[in-house]
Amino acid sequence: MKDDLRNVKYVIDIGPLPSLPIAGSELRFPVGRIYCVGRNYADHAREMGHDPNREPPFFFMKPANSIVQNNSTIGFPVATKEVHHEIELVVAIGKGGKDIAVEKSLDHVWGYGVGLDMTRRDLQGAAKKAGRPWEMGKSFDESAPCTALRPATEIGHPAKGAIWVKVNGQVKQQGDLSQQIWNVQEQIAYLSRLITLQPGDLIYTGTPAGVGPVNPGDKLEGHVDGVGDLTITYAR
Ligand code: MN
Repeated sequence: MKDDLRNVKYVIDIGPLPSLPIAGSELRFPVGRIYCVGRNYADHAREMGHDPNREPPFFFMKPANSIVQNNSTIGFPVATKEVHHEIELVVAIGKGGKDIAVEKSLDHVWGYGVGLDMTRRDLQGAAKKAGRPWEMGKSFDESAPCTALRPATEIGHPAKGAIWVKVNGQVKQQGDLSQQIWNVQEQIAYLSRLITLQPGDLIYTGTPAGVGPVNPGDKLEGHVDGVGDLTITYAR
């Protein structure tokens, strides 16, 4: 059936598949699904009022078409009075699988990028309070900026190194990849027990402490050592 659908003609045009550029290449990486890890740095778990020692990793999703290309200027999110930045290492899955062992997990990684898990914190907070899903706090238009990806064959698998974001030139979040509670291998192993990972999936791997508000006109500059630099500007 999958093969039968390769050359299908659609009744409406929804544009090209969401994708990300690959640094130094004409080829692009097709984005299938976006999984995000919650509270994966101890300091951030604490700032959100949780005990970082007791919780196994948990996941939420954003739609693939919430991807925003690097160096974009985007409109300010609607329906919110509190938009927060969360700078994150992004893992791009090249090979799918389920029940992946921790020690085999990096074989499934195609490469890495630098992303922002933009969050309508007020809507997320209201959802938490009401015991409802987080989607409207996390899964909105243009909520997943990401750099061009760099292949693991070139940069290896970054497990330590600075991760930070500046807002209008001021450092707001600063941490190190080594502070992740669940490292990339463990995240892949865990996630692959809950769903079958597919090639094209992205994993946003959590954010260090210092999340905070952004406003119309703000310029966000994110960085992960050895991976890349992300710049996103919100329109006034
Ligand atoms: Mn996040």
